Amino acid sequence: MTDFTMDVGADGVAIITWNTPGKSMNVMSMQGFEDLEALVDTVLEDDAIKGAVITSGKPDSFAGGMDLNVIAQMKESAGDNPAKGLFEGIMNLHRFLRKIERAGMDPKTNKGGKPIAAALPGTALGIGLEIPLACHRVFAADNPKAKIGLPEIMVGIFPGAGGTTRLTRKLGAMGASPLLLEGKLNDPKKAKMAGVVDEVVAPNDLVDKAREWVLSGPKIVKPWDERGYKMPGGAPYHPAGFMTFVGASAMVNGKTQGVYPAAKALLSAVYEGAQVDFDTALKIEARWFTNVLMNPSSSAMIRSLFINKEALEKGANRPEVPDQKVTRVGVLGAGMMGAGIALVSAQAGIDVVLLDQDQAAAERGKAYSESYMDKGIKRGKATPEKKDALLSRITATTDYAALAGCDLIVEAVFEDPTVKAEVTAKVEAVVGEDCIFATNTSTLPITQLAKASKRPEQFIGIHFFSPVEKMLLVEIIKGKQTGTRAVAKALDYVRQIRKTPIVVNDARFFYANRCIIPYINEGIRMVAEGINPALIENAAKLVGMPLGPLQLVDETSIDLGVKIAKATKAAMGDAYPDGAVDDVIFWMAEQERLGRKCKAGFYNYDEKGKRTGLWLGLAEKYPRADDQPDLLEIQHRLLFVQSLEAVRALEEGVLEDIREGDVGAILGWGFAPWSGGPFSWLDILGTPYAAARADELADRYGARFAAPALLSEMGAKNQSFYRRFGQAPAAA
Ligand code: NAD
Repeated sequence: MTDFTMDVGADGVAIITWNTPGKSMNVMSMQGFEDLEALVDTVLEDDAIKGAVITSGKPDSFAGGMDLNVIAQMKESAGDNPAKGLFEGIMNLHRFLRKIERAGMDPKTNKGGKPIAAALPGTALGIGLEIPLACHRVFAADNPKAKIGLPEIMVGIFPGAGGTTRLTRKLGAMGASPLLLEGKLNDPKKAKMAGVVDEVVAPNDLVDKAREWVLSGPKIVKPWDERGYKMPGGAPYHPAGFMTFVGASAMVNGKTQGVYPAAKALLSAVYEGAQVDFDTALKIEARWFTNVLMNPSSSAMIRSLFINKEALEKGANRPEVPDQKVTRVGVLGAGMMGAGIALVSAQAGIDVVLLDQDQAAAERGKAYSESYMDKGIKRGKATPEKKDALLSRITATTDYAALAGCDLIVEAVFEDPTVKAEVTAKVEAVVGEDCIFATNTSTLPITQLAKASKRPEQFIGIHFFSPVEKMLLVEIIKGKQTGTRAVAKALDYVRQIRKTPIVVNDARFFYANRCIIPYINEGIRMVAEGINPALIENAAKLVGMPLGPLQLVDETSIDLGVKIAKATKAAMGDAYPDGAVDDVIFWMAEQERLGRKCKAGFYNYDEKGKRTGLWLGLAEKYPRADDQPDLLEIQHRLLFVQSLEAVRALEEGVLEDIREGDVGAILGWGFAPWSGGPFSWLDILGTPYAAARADELADRYGARFAAPALLSEMGAKNQSFYRRFGQAPAAA
């Protein structure tokens, strides 16, 4: 079955309709291109056809983009010379889109040719906009929910089917840069204002308006195919253009720290392309696009941030249990976490009972949703009606009886096993037998907490990250006795609140905190070694970590670090490895430098809590060593210490699926997204090198870097994580 059909009206206008079978939104495949080209050939060759309108058979969208699996496959199947194969494949796309754009015009006189319009009923993303940009006029239905743009940069590539070159020529480098470099999406009216689409029309008139235009005998030659074309805003060596490129280059480097290859390649394609004719510019775009696709970072980002993230959201690891959609959730504890959990649940249309020890605390928790919605109203993102509807779904109470009828409980009371056990028993006395009980604990073993439950198979961990409404990851933790229905319930709930889940087994600090704590600790250890804190922080940022380890500990607070250190020491006894770290944080706590919340930590802060620079007083206690290490040495310490912990989590069966390990690391704590996550990073390094380098770091800095047996074994066999564990979930 083909994705494209064509219907030629009595007026001679061919309506080409894109309708990918079995998908809610059209997605472009290699076959799709061939089918569309065959129809375009017919339009251009058949004298009875006057022109064409390309539209969609889906009511609210034109197309969601290219099937990114195809790009991955294209690369895999390009044989011995993948760069050549990719380049030729991309040039073939350019040839085809150029065929639409030139539409049979005489190359010298620009005479002749047939008008081809694009009619977008709604969302048009990626290739779904690059095809319209090759057409002669773009009509969009006035559908405020539609999103129009080129979001490729968000998954580590850039618009490589002419979108970069066409948009730059259409809008100028300055006008095109937010759309290209930030992947900014617009609704149809804003897209028209930005100059991306040409006309916004009533949805019912969409195809008719486009048809009328085709029949009106319009001028179809593109400005860049006319003599004397000048780029809006000036080419790079024009004084105005010069300013744009200097600014854009600085902005890209500032934002990407040089670790995201796509943004830099995109800018190069724009800069170099702006100085040559259009067809040469397309060739340059194809070269840079090939360069990006050949970079292991881009395939790792596509795999983690698009393919695997989506697979996990769709329930890749959900047990086969009937639908467990949540209708009424009880949230215990209306503190920082409980308030956020109540908000995101109510946003998903779930009724919430928000319970705390006293009514004032419960109300404060609910007020969090109120002020959140007020801010949304101020920014034009919410309405008073939506606020009322959301607040009406949240019942703030102290009365356990109100929990009757809840099918899920999320407990977020104090991090104290006795308090947690007490509320578990109180809840189970009032809720129905089927109710699933989830705890949001960050540090207490689920299996232990489940002992307070009469139904441990219905007891599970649902671990949110703070701030709940912003953080995209939720970690689901199976205790020893947790049953499959509880897992399915947690997954269905996470899906309802539109977050990305990972499912892990119960072990100290689960997965995310297990990896992030060593990152923070390594930064603190370096302080104790006399490494310049600015070097530590900048090294982290330059390798793509969103926050340096010292900033991160300031954010999470040093007293929390002290608390966790004490508890861990008590649990581990002589095996406790972090004495050097404790010296620093205990001393910081003594100086009452507890982090951002008290406006003093590793950083100084102003009255408003804004960082004003690193605290120089640290050097009095921990003087700078004369010899400072290389940037790469610090970066390796910071990334290896996290990645080796991820490997141990896999080895021990805490992680069952490396896709979760990678996606969880990026969404949970911002592990250098350009790498695709810790397992992808180790694959990029190559396991033989990674194992040897880990052992070298262990010799220099301590046993925490020793390559886990799994990594050593994989290194010896030259195996990659994704070849060995990538397809189906599998434990080590
Ligand atoms: P918090 O101190 O802000 O809130 C706890 C709330 O629970 C308070 O409002 C308190 O009055 C209430 N409470 C205490 N005992 C109660 C009882 N017996 N009955 C009813 N309510 C009771 O704490 P928080 O930061 O929201 O953390 C809550 C839980 O979430 C903890 O288990 C914590 O480990 C976990 N967690 C915290 C974070 C974080 O970043 N803060 C992240 C993930 C998980």
